[in-house]
This record gives sequence, C-alpha cells and structure tokens, in this order.
Amino acid sequence: MREMHKVRVELGASSYDIFIGEDLLPEISDFVKAQNFSHKALVISDENVGKIYGERTLAALREAGLEPALHLVPAGEASKSLAVADEIFTHAIELGLDRRSPVFALGGGVVGDLAGFIAAAYMRGVPFVQLPTSLLAQVDSSVGGKVAVNHRLGKNLIGAFYQPAAVFADLATFATLPEREIRTGLGEIIKYGIIFDADFFAALEDHAADALRLSHDAALFMVERSCEIKAEVVAKDEKEGGLRRILNYGHTIAHAIEKETGYARYNHGEAVAIGSLGAAYISEALGMIDDADVLRVRRLTERLGLPLFAEGCTVEGLYAAIFHDKKTVDGKVNWVLMEGIGKVCVRDDVPESIVRTAMARCL
Ligand code: NAD
Ligand code: ZN
Repeated sequence: MREMHKVRVELGASSYDIFIGEDLLPEISDFVKAQNFSHKALVISDENVGKIYGERTLAALREAGLEPALHLVPAGEASKSLAVADEIFTHAIELGLDRRSPVFALGGGVVGDLAGFIAAAYMRGVPFVQLPTSLLAQVDSSVGGKVAVNHRLGKNLIGAFYQPAAVFADLATFATLPEREIRTGLGEIIKYGIIFDADFFAALEDHAADALRLSHDAALFMVERSCEIKAEVVAKDEKEGGLRRILNYGHTIAHAIEKETGYARYNHGEAVAIGSLGAAYISEALGMIDDADVLRVRRLTERLGLPLFAEGCTVEGLYAAIFHDKKTVDGKVNWVLMEGIGKVCVRDDVPESIVRTAMARCL
C-alpha cells in the first residue's frame, strides 16, 4: 500500500487534514471528488513550479471532474503584491469562478500566501487547497491559515487568517527543489525543535546529513513532526493572541536582517537561522540557558548548511529595523526566548544593551 501520513489541524468548523506522502495526485483527485466544489477551478503557481508540475496537476483535477485553469506568476517574493492579486482576480472573474470554485496553491510559500489571499477575498471567500512544493511551505507556510500579500511599506501587511480545506504535502516534489531552498526550510525546522520538542531537536542532530540531503525518511519525519507541532500550536491559538507567538522564535532579528539586506542576500529560512541564534544569545545573557545549549543550536545550524552571521548588517541598522516590525506592540518587542532546548517563553523586558550585544554576536 502507498504510504501516506495524515496530520489533523483541529480548528472547530475549519478543521482540516494535511496529507503527507509521495505522488499524491490520486489522493488529490479523490479528495476533490468528495467535495461540493463547482466545476470551474483556478490553480495558481509560479513559473518554475508550474512548468514542472502544472500539467499533471491539471490532469488530476480534470480526472476529478473539474475544469481547471492555470494562472502562472513570476517566481519570487515580488509576486506577493496587490498588483499581481488584481490580475488574478481579473482572471477569476473572466473565467466565471463562483463561490464554490476552488483555488489551488501549487508552489512555495509565495504562491501559498498569494493564492490564499485570493481565496480569502474573492467573493468573500472560496474553497482553498494547498499543494505546497517547497520544504518551507510544507513545514510552515501552508499550515496555520495566515495568508497575505506585501505592501511597498512592508511584508505581509495586507492579509487574513483563512484556513485551507486540505493540504497535500507531496515529498516527491523535493526532487526538483534547489539546494538553497532545502536549507531555508531547515531554518524553520530547527526552530520547531527549539520551541517545542527537545527530542525532535536531538533527532535532527543525529540525522543532520540525511536531513540536509532530504532522504525520504528524513523528509517524511521532518515534514510530519513540523506540521504536528505547528498544528498543535495553531489549534490552541488560531489568531495569534498568545501561544502562537512562539512560532515567531528567531523572527524578530530575522525580519530585521531581511529588511537590512533588502530581502536579497538571505532568504527567509537563512535569516531565521541567524535570528534563532540571536535569540539564543539573548537567552544566555539573561541567564535562561547555558552556553552548552547555545553551542548545540549553533552546531546544528552550521551542520544544516545555514549561516551563523548576517553579513552586510550593522547593530544600529538591525535595532532600528526591529521597531518597524508589525509585531512590536506599543513600542515594546515581545522576544521569544529559550528556557532550554524545546522550551521557550515570551518576554518584553529585555534591556537594550543585551539585545545589542546579542546582535553584535550575529555579525
Ligand atoms: P518561494 O515560494 O519563493 O519558493 C522558493 C523557490 O523555489 C521559488 O523560486 C520556487 O519557484 C521554487 N520552488 C518551489 N518548489 C519547487 C519545487 N518543488 N521544484 C523546483 N522549484 C521549486 O519561497 P518559500 O521559501 O517556499 O516561501 C517563502 C514565502 O513564504 C515568503 O513570502 C514568506 O513570507 C512566506 N511564509 C508564510 C508563512 C505563513 O504562515 N503564511 C510562514 C512562513 C513563510
Ligand atoms: Zn518564518
């Protein structure tokens, strides 16, 4: 029998399943057949992913009785814009998509966030199915329901919480994923170990080489466990009132690094890896963890091919950037900090001098 794992995201009426396995197109067909969707459907993808997986996805949807159209956007963060969304809305209206027409996101986090935004807003919300193809999208962005486009004044500023009807994480798509995109996913995966699961962190230490080459077993293990952790956190706090903030571990400094380097030098997971170390340094300076824990985080980061230092940044620049992050409330930064491997807490009382010293260690 084909091996397929399932992670349930419990959100009351908007609960859904994440299916994880290889070559999931038959499962996608079966799922679609069981839904009350209209015939007309829209598959949103980018030019890289669409070229490889577009046709076969359309064929599987046709097999399930849909009439799908493919909308391709240029690959890259710039496609997460209101201008691109407007083109897709136009396409959707011209196609005659109605309230029960499903929107499929076939691609990485960019496509997932963009397509989710379209699905949330088109006719006040149409069914949405995630077909994530990057490691980052499978372990992070396709789970949890945050969808958004960017504004010229900041990332992800225009968006919604909108849950998919299902997520199909097809591990076979990793065969064509560029190496650097594997590492960016690993940046978020280390984070899950730090915030929630010491055993998961230890398993990554034990199998770092398999993780880096995304062997089948390592990929399945990492995607499944990451989805379980994210699902558990999101189920307890869908709209980020409390617990969900722990998912932002490493992200305060990461966002500052991305901003300081013009979103060009480091991709998101690389910045998260450096930011995770920065948060470990702050935790150490506050006496919450000892240097052995910091060393473990640094070693694993290095072994998974991720950067330890943010080149092209200054302490001054990073510090200023943090106060433009939308997650600063009333001028206070909620730092997610380590209490050990697998356990974090949120603090807003970190002295400026400690933040600056930690940042200096990241440069
Ligand atoms: P991405 O979508 O740009 O994908 C990275 C690159 O890999 C692209 O060039 C893409 O074409 C290519 N690619 C993807 N899958 C492929 C495959 N199987 N084969 C060949 N090429 C493939 O970037 P990403 O890292 O997946 O996602 C980053 C985005 O996710 C950011 O916009 C970020 O804000 C967002 N994000 C959202 C959430 C959330 O909760 N919604 C969480 C984390 C990140
Ligand atoms: Zn992230």
